[in-house]
Amino acid sequence: MADIIQLLPDHVANQIAAGEVVQRPASVVKELLENAIDAGADTIKLIIKDAGKTLVQVIDNGKGMSPTDARLSFSRHATSKIRNAEDLFQLHTKGFRGEALASIAAIAHVELKTKQPDDDVGTCLVIEGSNVTSQDVVVTPTGTSVSVKNLFFNIPARRNFLKSDAVELRHVMDEFHRVALAHPNISFAMYNNGSESFNLPVSNYRQRIVNIFGNKTNEKLVPVDEDTEVLKISGFVGKPEFAKKTRGEQYFFVNNRFIKSAYLNHAIASAFEGLLKNGTHASYFLNLNVDPQTIDINIHPTKTEIKFDDEHTLYALLRSAVKHSLGQFNIAPVLDFEHDPNLDTPYSYKNNQAQAPKIEVDRSFNPFKTETKFSGSSSGRQTTSFKPTPNNWDSLYVGLESKGNDTGDDSESDFSGLQFESEEETVSMFESEHPVETGSSTYQLHNKYIVSTIKSGMLLIDQHRAHQRILYEEFLKNITIKEATSQQLLFPLQLHFSSQDIEVVKQLKSDLEHTGFVFSKVDDGEVEITGVPVGVPESEVSIVLEQLISDVENEVPDSHFSATDLMAKSMAKSLAIKTGQTLKSDEQEYLVNKLFACKEPNMSPANRTAFVTMSVDELDKKFM
Ligand code: ADP
Ligand code: MG
Repeated sequence: MADIIQLLPDHVANQIAAGEVVQRPASVVKELLENAIDAGADTIKLIIKDAGKTLVQVIDNGKGMSPTDARLSFSRHATSKIRNAEDLFQLHTKGFRGEALASIAAIAHVELKTKQPDDDVGTCLVIEGSNVTSQDVVVTPTGTSVSVKNLFFNIPARRNFLKSDAVELRHVMDEFHRVALAHPNISFAMYNNGSESFNLPVSNYRQRIVNIFGNKTNEKLVPVDEDTEVLKISGFVGKPEFAKKTRGEQYFFVNNRFIKSAYLNHAIASAFEGLLKNGTHASYFLNLNVDPQTIDINIHPTKTEIKFDDEHTLYALLRSAVKHSLGQFNIAPVLDFEHDPNLDTPYSYKNNQAQAPKIEVDRSFNPFKTETKFSGSSSGRQTTSFKPTPNNWDSLYVGLESKGNDTGDDSESDFSGLQFESEEETVSMFESEHPVETGSSTYQLHNKYIVSTIKSGMLLIDQHRAHQRILYEEFLKNITIKEATSQQLLFPLQLHFSSQDIEVVKQLKSDLEHTGFVFSKVDDGEVEITGVPVGVPESEVSIVLEQLISDVENEVPDSHFSATDLMAKSMAKSLAIKTGQTLKSDEQEYLVNKLFACKEPNMSPANRTAFVTMSVDELDKKFM
């Protein structure tokens, strides 16, 4: 029998491939947007007519193509993004299969205009159903514009299968959102039938989400941030009370690529367990950053499904990260100290109460022994005439206990044997107006946490976050009430900044003055400061300002309120006691007292847990 196997002609192979890559106009949108991103564009425009059935056009300001590359880009397996199989595991681009343009050109009328930055003129190429109909030199801006017209013009069956414009437009928008969410550092615009649907400036992630889904979204977002060795998770989940009946706003991005994963979705659903009403779905916008070597994106032509080396670990990490964030947000622990602080006695007096009765009893008193002169009214320093003997140790003990604060540090040298008992009565250098019922003294753990007891059990405070909260509320108060005092510097402090940074300082100047800064000059790349807020060391000033400028530049606050808030947060962050810093016991107590005098003591300004409590019940369980 004669041989019957033949190689398919390219245009047929391309049409078959197109069946996988291009299902609908939205697929074209995705491929073209991704090419624009891979080309390094920072401004990308999407133009749609009739939900993309008549036209999908993407214009970018990326690196463009040479005339030869322009021609070659429409061949199958033509790509500039990988060279060999190993590169598949080091992917830093969206595309790599070299199929999209070839597939699209097989089933539509395509016009490509492209120019590289160093060239004066560019190339215009017209292709219809895989046939190049013209190639010309044109005047065109740097970058690339690809117009895809009359999709499926040569495959009527596919064209008839397209849904209504409304449905197809929905798909197009979905793709646009996915790409725009993955790249807040690129500005995107979308025009539908001649009118602007979206205009998304470069912004931070939160603002990108808000710009797409509307202002109301802002208050619904809970930040998720977890950095582990295998995985970095960042982004937001929607608060449970705003969960939706539809699965609308659920986005996973792995290394900036939108992916679908029922498994990881389940991880999130399980983190929300018990928090959602039946039949509702949480929204999420989560970026997972993993080593490209640990994933395989090559398993699906549209690259929306990927395979992870270690899915179980990802699942567990994701679930706990989301849980953690929700916990921080929802669980405002029921505190023992939720009371009117005005009714309290100051912190240091608290300790005395329970011990008061013991003072009356002096068991060692011996009426026949005249030299024992213990008296409750003298200070704790009656050491000269007092010689501890087994008998009168007792009386000494009683005396010290009742003295409370009066004994102070002196007891240490004279009665070191009793130190442990007297240590409980540490003196508070800083009297707080709003003390807390902590019951006993504080301890510092690993120069990071402050441990204290409360009625129901135990309290663990993160010193850095707690101090941030304290400073944040103070700064916020100062900025809004405008009452801060400043300390005059002996010599004016000169700091140098870029002109862009100077603009930021100018914007913030009046608010900064309310916190206590005094400026004698903000111009010509120089800031001269003659006064600083009380408590801000001169050596920290430049760090505080630099941090502030960079925070403002990154966050781009959109209202005055958010600007003051950002400023208070930023300064609190710079000036707060750091992890690793040893704190004296009076400093620890000061921190505890101040924290619980705050309006929202349980969170740091960045919405991270400032303290946790553990009840005796919970502790008991651990010992079962
Ligand atoms: P892939 O993106 O998988 O490489 P495509 O068919 O989408 O395959 O594109 C083929 C090649 O054409 C790309 O590798 C790239 O070199 C070039 N290209 C496509 N779109 C653009 C663009 N907007 N700007 C610059 N080069 C582009
Ligand atoms: Mg591509």
